[in-house]
Amino acid sequence: MIREKAIFIKLNQLHYSDRQLFDAAVAGFKPSSCGCPKCGAVGRLSRIRPYRRFMVSAEHGSRSDTELIVPRFRCGSCGCTHALLPDSLIPFGSYSLRFVLTVLLAYLNRSDTVADFCDHWQIAVSTLYGWIHLFRSQYNAWCRILDRILWVTQKSLDSVSDFPAFPSDFLSRFGFSFLQGHRASPSVSLQRIDRRRRPWVT
Ligand SMILES: [Zn+2]
Repeated sequence: MIREKAIFIKLNQLHYSDRQLFDAAVAGFKPSSCGCPKCGAVGRLSRIRPYRRFMVSAEHGSRSDTELIVPRFRCGSCGCTHALLPDSLIPFGSYSLRFVLTVLLAYLNRSDTVADFCDHWQIAVSTLYGWIHLFRSQYNAWCRILDRILWVTQKSLDSVSDFPAFPSDFLSRFGFSFLQGHRASPSVSLQRIDRRRRPWVT
């Protein structure tokens, strides 16, 4: 997979839709100067048949579903194929990074019940709590010990959204994207706290 930087400014100040970010990142990608993620050979990527995937993004306070054509490339040196995925998207899923962060922020400020809230965003309750768990564990792995959180907070959401290089920094540090479910996801120590406190079932 080739990750292309699409987010250059603060997420919460972006005036572009996720669709526009995707299109701009794809249009700006130059395979002739890109190294193969597998073998490192530069300028050996040839465009092959793309694939279609859905993207779920947030627009004007609601969910918006759109279909993307994701470019793919084959390396002429090692033969591996790679999809081009801007860092505004979370790999191996349909939800954009901004969609998940928008839902988490709305969750903090909701007046609805959790069930009604999830109906509005068309997500399962288990999906919401899965995101909260991922956010908390991956955020805690990324930040300093003193800044660690027990539950998603306004301050932690702000610090992620205010740091333009956060998606690419997180990827280069851990080897997978923020909020991407991953078996190597560093959730570790806080899982013990979860079992005692379980704030999401209160
Ligand atoms: Zn290669």
